[in-house]
Amino acid sequence: MLYSILFLIFLKLIRLHNAGGVTISSTDWSALADSLDGDVMLPTDDNYDTSYRAWTATYDDVKPEAVVYCKSESDVVTVMNFILEHASEDGSVMDFAVRSGGHNLAGWSSSDGVVIDLSGLNQLYVSEDNTAIVGPGVSLSIFTKFAEENDFTLPHGDCASVCFGGFLNGGGFGLISRTFGMGVDWIKSINVVLPTGELIQTSQEDEYYGDLFWALRGGGGGNFGIVTQYEMNIPQKELKSPGLYLEISWNYDSNLWGEIASTWNSFVQDQSYGNHFAVYLRITPVTYITKDYYIQLHGFWTGEQVDGLMVVAKLLDKISVTPTQAKVDYVSFEGWIESSASDRLRYSSHCSSRFAFDTLSKGFFDAISTTLEDMISYDNYADPTDEDELTYGNPTEFLFIAPAGGAISNHAIGDTAFPWRDATYLFVVCARYMNDYENAYDFVEKWIVSTMDTVEPFLSDKSFINFPDNNLVNWQNAFYGDNYARLQSVKGKYDPNNIFRFKFSIEQPETNIYDSTSRFKPKSISPKKVHEFSIENEQVMQQSSNDDGKKGASSAVIVTSYVIAITTIVLLIAVIFKLTSKNCKNCKTRHTEYTPVNNQQVSSYNTI
Ligand SMILES: Cc1cc2nc3c(=O)[nH]c(=O)nc-3n(C[C@H](O)[C@H](O)[C@H](O)COP(=O)(O)OP(=O)(O)OC[C@H]3O[C@@H](n4cnc5c(N)ncnc54)[C@H](O)[C@@H]3O)c2cc1C
Repeated sequence: MLYSILFLIFLKLIRLHNAGGVTISSTDWSALADSLDGDVMLPTDDNYDTSYRAWTATYDDVKPEAVVYCKSESDVVTVMNFILEHASEDGSVMDFAVRSGGHNLAGWSSSDGVVIDLSGLNQLYVSEDNTAIVGPGVSLSIFTKFAEENDFTLPHGDCASVCFGGFLNGGGFGLISRTFGMGVDWIKSINVVLPTGELIQTSQEDEYYGDLFWALRGGGGGNFGIVTQYEMNIPQKELKSPGLYLEISWNYDSNLWGEIASTWNSFVQDQSYGNHFAVYLRITPVTYITKDYYIQLHGFWTGEQVDGLMVVAKLLDKISVTPTQAKVDYVSFEGWIESSASDRLRYSSHCSSRFAFDTLSKGFFDAISTTLEDMISYDNYADPTDEDELTYGNPTEFLFIAPAGGAISNHAIGDTAFPWRDATYLFVVCARYMNDYENAYDFVEKWIVSTMDTVEPFLSDKSFINFPDNNLVNWQNAFYGDNYARLQSVKGKYDPNNIFRFKFSIEQPETNIYDSTSRFKPKSISPKKVHEFSIENEQVMQQSSNDDGKKGASSAVIVTSYVIAITTIVLLIAVIFKLTSKNCKNCKTRHTEYTPVNNQQVSSYNTI
């Protein structure tokens, strides 16, 4: 009896942790923390709750045994070896997930074992050979600011706090992809810590790891190793920011939706605009609490500003109804990122995506209307006059249809692991809800399934790994198509023991052609230390935490007497831009301003 009590006290003292069948003592965690430039956060630590959580609240109940904050490449090597050294006798290692910005919408950067956090790997600088070094923990907001200061850009999305780690692992798609291609098309080399704990660098010409370089460009994060650094080719000068950004909104009405969708559809199919323009068609909630939605055109023009203004005017001219709000700004990429970020409540999201490979039909746009009516049919809506209910918000949907093609299709399907080079459109839909509110979870889950069943016949069963959905059945084909078998072969070579695993991780090949001695020839490189990173971690982390709260830099525009007024204004501005567009350093401060028709707040892209 006495021995049992003493044993229990002993257990309590050393706090044994059990992650995925592997037991780690708090003494071991402390030893790990001592050997890192970064830190280890345990459930007993004060900031544990905020540090384990990902961007979406959907997976808040997945609580890790530890969050390991890496600040250098050597930290990543250390933690990988720590995991390997703590394997159980049968060789299995503890569950872990890699996290850069934590925006994965299917919970793949959450774990009940260890979360390896790379937000501190935020190295960002331009090298002498005209390449940029970008750490996985660099957020899009930090990147665009830096890129603008250094007169270049790269394809990126428009959520300020998404990080390059996950964004590039999935391919990287954005408003400027029709002009510049996918993010992965600009990668020159990648530093990665392998499942063996070695740090290597790989590139296109690599004799030993070229297959891994291929797989890391669109094969999905958390499958083959931990990326610690990207070296990016810098596009030529004329591809730099700023450009013409537009966000034009109409109050939703099903007839108007039909008209705008059909006008937009003809417009994006018009090849005479080349690859300079991408305009997304979106449906976005006006606020978190009401049943009101906007139909929105959200786009970016990368060509000559004066031409862009003409094209926008032409597009608007074809729509018979005055927009509720419109913003047509000459902004830097940084300005655009900021303008699409907003304060957000902590809510859960469930998203899904599909590619189309053909034109879109009227049937598809009608189906979208039906799904919106279904969403509005949720019968437990919070009462907007009740303060308590307001804090919960309501389930809402957000969707966009983005034109693909352009420079994305300059590469063949097998050039990188991202396979959907010949897609014509990307469709993404998300439902947002508060965790505790009136069966919202059940409602939203059913709604997403029925929405995807409704739209899939008009699109395809192919999906984008950056907007994943755990409900996908044939996910191997949906995310990777014909590239899947090759990805399995790479998995068999680098991770034959399936150390990197999650719900939809790449499976082992049926026959592994590599044996344990011939898998690859190690060619390790030395990890970089913290002081070699050009941006101070503290500065960047502080900025990142503010990213979501940034308000748009520009004001909204109202077009009252729409057709005549906007065309006149646009032409006038076009002339002014033409006269003043030589020096673009101060361009982000120049924008066209109109006055809002009403005071409704435009909810923005990160309502996802
Ligand atoms: C509001 C919002 C807007 C978005 N807009 C766009 C968009 O415009 N275009 C677009 O393409 N995508 C977009 N996305 C999707 C986004 O690019 C992906 O979710 C991306 O994976 C997020 O990267 P992260 O590092 O922030 O997320 P994480 O959750 O940290 O990582 C995502 C996945 O990659 C793995 N991973 C992360 N870092 C590494 C690493 N260094 N090495 C190996 N594996 C790693 C994780 O384990 C996880 O599986 C958006 C997402 C949100 C929530």
